[in-house]
Amino acid sequence: MPGGDVRAGGGLERFREVQLPSVTATRLDGNLCATAIRGELTPRVAVFASAHGRAPSLHILLVGDDPGSQVYVRNKERACIETGLHVTVHRMSASSTREQVLGLVHQLNADAGCDGILVQAPLPAALGKAATQDVFDAIDPGKDVDGFHPTNVGLLVQGRAVLAPCTPTGVIELLERSKIAIGGTRSVVIGRSEIVGKPMALMLLQRDSTVTICHSRTKNLPAVTRDADLLVSAIGRPGFVTADMVKPGATVVDVGISPTSDRQLVVSLFGEGSARLASFDKKGTTVVGDIHPGVWDVAGAMTPVPGGVGPLTIALLLKNTLVAAESRAGR
Ligand code: NAP
Repeated sequence: MPGGDVRAGGGLERFREVQLPSVTATRLDGNLCATAIRGELTPRVAVFASAHGRAPSLHILLVGDDPGSQVYVRNKERACIETGLHVTVHRMSASSTREQVLGLVHQLNADAGCDGILVQAPLPAALGKAATQDVFDAIDPGKDVDGFHPTNVGLLVQGRAVLAPCTPTGVIELLERSKIAIGGTRSVVIGRSEIVGKPMALMLLQRDSTVTICHSRTKNLPAVTRDADLLVSAIGRPGFVTADMVKPGATVVDVGISPTSDRQLVVSLFGEGSARLASFDKKGTTVVGDIHPGVWDVAGAMTPVPGGVGPLTIALLLKNTLVAAESRAGR
């Protein structure tokens, strides 16, 4: 690691006294990696289609009119079409009942021509707190392309998942294809959600990393994160992880995605005169990650936002749909 372990000899104050090496992190390009994965899927999709007389088929349930969800679903729909998958979006009104949503899930479970079911989260708050879990639990595990069903979570815990959550799987693909060693490292995952933090930690553990999971109640978080050779942040707080929280030379993965229209925030993160601010001033909005841009000068390798983990999540959704179709056909 460039600069070695700067913690030797003291805490944060000591860390600040140490001259940091001028390291500019290698950019881990999620777009390139996602393009490679999607390129590998296209011929497999064609083989499936010619063997079965139909393309693998994904059904997306979009309940309500959350603007972020509309964008995510449009992007997923476009990616499916580009890869040769068949995609159907079921749009349900925000006033749909839990029973109506569950009814559609049961109908798709029984549909032999449906290989994958994705329920876009979040569901409208009016459906009640437990509705999201109830709906995920109702999906046939063999069609659960998000990997959220308890059966698939259990298989992941046991290290034999077929359908695993797309975002952490995408992070693993990016690290492995970038030849970043995982085995033997100390990794720290910030965030313990079911969809990112927990499965991320399990996937790193299964690849022989020594893993620590942090969350909002973790005490002295910077001391923990500075121990990480591999740091993954999935909390959704712009610029939360600053340079003094990162071990020089560490690999840093930024899962956080926070859309913002706050110019002051963009100035504080990227500075006056930055390309990002110029782009923000044109569009009035941008997307920022959890990792402060100052970390580029400390880390050994790092994912950008945008263009890091985001494109991989979609690529892995396509892959899970194909895998679900192949597995169902092979039963
Ligand atoms: P989530 O369910 O809201 O979980 C956030 C986690 O962050 C929680 O475990 C929370 O701890 C922890 N946290 C919050 N504030 C913290 C703090 N100050 N210090 C330490 N931990 C803190 O979020 P999520 O669904 O996992 O998503 C996280 C981020 O990733 C969001 O920005 C989301 O948009 C993004 N995301 C991106 C992709 C992608 O494709 N790139 C995919 C999914 C999610 P507690 O458990 O203690 O509350």
